[in-house]
Amino acid sequence: MEDSRSALVLFSGGQDSTTCLAWALERFQHVETVAFDYRQRHRIELDQRLVVLDELRRAPPWADRLGEDHLVDMAVLGQISETSLTRDVAFAMEKDGLPNTFVPGRNLLFFTFAATIAWRRNIRHLVGGMCETDYSGYPDCRDNTVKALQVALNLGMDKSFVLHTPLMWLDKAETWALAHELGGQTLVGTILEHTHTCYQSERGPRHPWGYGCGECPACSLRKRGYETWAKHAA
Ligand code: ZN
Repeated sequence: MEDSRSALVLFSGGQDSTTCLAWALERFQHVETVAFDYRQRHRIELDQRLVVLDELRRAPPWADRLGEDHLVDMAVLGQISETSLTRDVAFAMEKDGLPNTFVPGRNLLFFTFAATIAWRRNIRHLVGGMCETDYSGYPDCRDNTVKALQVALNLGMDKSFVLHTPLMWLDKAETWALAHELGGQTLVGTILEHTHTCYQSERGPRHPWGYGCGECPACSLRKRGYETWAKHAA
């Protein structure tokens, strides 16, 4: 039997997955985290996620609930995918309307590997930061994709996993609002200071919305969302 009080969060160290982690820590008694090293250009996120975890381990009552962290080496995904997240090419839009930051199958693989870990750890709930509202149209972030994958994983592993995507219908401003609701200014501060979103690995000057180049698609979304939220929150 899976433990329905436990969750495993796909935790990359960005704004979205940190908010998802806080969401899970509010709901589940035991929460583990997993990240994937697919030789992403912004590998700095793998360092930053450890800083975020350290911060959260200092925040009662979440500290007691935060369990093991897993890092999965998925170098093969970087080897077989031709994208601007895994190769040194400029960000651009493809003819099919998808940005070349799209790594085909990435989220399908992440959830599948997470389920493999959850299976071993007797964890029932899987949590990911996929979002349909305010993102780049990645087809593996869509609600139907995640729901279909839940069915496939449960059939294929003979389990009753529940895949949660708390950000699915939120825009970036609402994601900042959710973080504030979950952890107040402390969590917002942790996200601003320590999470990494920028595709370019830029962590130079600190902007009001955190660190990043300010220009890449990930920074643009984060910046715009923060400014909208901050204006309404003020
Ligand atoms: Zn950027």
